[in-house]
Amino acid sequence: MSQVSSAPPIQAAADEFNPFLSMARGFDTAADHLGLDEGVRQVLRMPDRELTVAIPIVMDDGKMRVFTGYRVQHNFSRGPCKGGIRYAPDVNLDEVRALAAWMTWKCAVVDIPFGGGKGGVICDPRQLSQGELERITRRYTAGIMDILGPDRDVPAPDVNTNEQTMAWIMDTYSMHVRRTTTAVVTGKPLAIGGSRGRTEATGRGVMLICREALKKIGLRPEAARVVVQGSGNVGGIGAMLLHREGYKIVSMSDQYGAIHAEKGLDVPAVLAHLKKNKRLDGFPGARELANDGEQLELDCDVLVPAAVENQITTRNADRIKAKLIVEGANGPTTFAASEILDKRGVVVVPDILANAGGVTVSYFEWVQDRMGYFWTEERVNSSLEHIMVKAFHDVDEVARRYEVSMRIAAYILAIDRVAAVYRMRGIFA
Ligand code: NAD
Repeated sequence: MSQVSSAPPIQAAADEFNPFLSMARGFDTAADHLGLDEGVRQVLRMPDRELTVAIPIVMDDGKMRVFTGYRVQHNFSRGPCKGGIRYAPDVNLDEVRALAAWMTWKCAVVDIPFGGGKGGVICDPRQLSQGELERITRRYTAGIMDILGPDRDVPAPDVNTNEQTMAWIMDTYSMHVRRTTTAVVTGKPLAIGGSRGRTEATGRGVMLICREALKKIGLRPEAARVVVQGSGNVGGIGAMLLHREGYKIVSMSDQYGAIHAEKGLDVPAVLAHLKKNKRLDGFPGARELANDGEQLELDCDVLVPAAVENQITTRNADRIKAKLIVEGANGPTTFAASEILDKRGVVVVPDILANAGGVTVSYFEWVQDRMGYFWTEERVNSSLEHIMVKAFHDVDEVARRYEVSMRIAAYILAIDRVAAVYRMRGIFA
């Protein structure tokens, strides 16, 4: 295998790492396969609505500061928009647009009645007190209030937001509309309308997809060596559930670096170590690797990137040894890197399928809130399994029919489902 890096020139690299362009290339390739009408193509390429809000708050030192927040609703033809809210210093409109569009495709792939949305606030939560975060969240909610609601747009947690953030949004919204409206957000604490199984849902979905994909490449779980990048909600829980199913987790990582043990890691012990020390390094009996990408190139059968975007790129795609990649994170593989992996015969289960377990259980949470009747964990998990397994086989069937990768097949399936709604509903004027 070649060890020569195929690093692209600087402008091409900038384009490669732009998530909106990555999404657009997947969309265009799938639209070409479908022979999609140019008008529908234009409609689906553009977000339905984008809102930018100024968020003035009084900081703990008494001074006023203004933050910027976005909410993008990519498409609401199949139902209310659904998608997370992230807080980070590098949040930008292009990223939010891409993530909103991916949510449209993701909801269509698992065939749940939502469109795609995403939000973000430019801020560094590590520099903010709990009180400042609460004031930002409440003012941001008030700012986007007119386009929110159980029938309009239903946010959820994403990077640096959590169930507490959702509780503040739910409360702010409810106080404005003068009634408790739990279904306005998902990912809430159980006590205020959250769903059982929501915390584990994305990791559980990743585990289920690994199981189905492994059958496709003819490998048994006990024979599969797995590398997991990221040890948070998706990576940590995903690794734990895979470990329980008998997979050998040979490496895990966090933002500081990776640990590697050829004979397999004791995942519950790793997670207990992480909980105690707030980082993975120092875990006894494992080799330590720097956070320089070496982990992704380790010898393994399955690679689960479950940390951040743009990890598998044209710079390392030719050195990835996994036979199967199951994308836990959103956008971990650039579109250009996907093409290299396809040529090399690596099976990639794309993010819009592999990590759809979270939004699927968010859908169950919204349903339960609207029914006022809450399901058992068994019902949540078995309903999740049914949807994930069906979606995997739907995508696989499209991949065979069109002779394309699972990524392009997932886009084809999703775009076809959304475009069909335009054909049936027509355009309101
Ligand atoms: P998280 O914050 O719980 O965990 C992120 C993990 O990644 C942490 O272990 C962190 O240390 C690690 N990390 C950060 N930068 C890294 C780097 N450069 N190299 C290696 N590790 C790094 O976040 P999460 O909820 O697990 O989300 C992870 C990804 O999955 C994101 O792309 C998110 O959008 C996506 N996702 C999450 C959900 C969900 O339900 N949580 C659903 C769908 C998609």
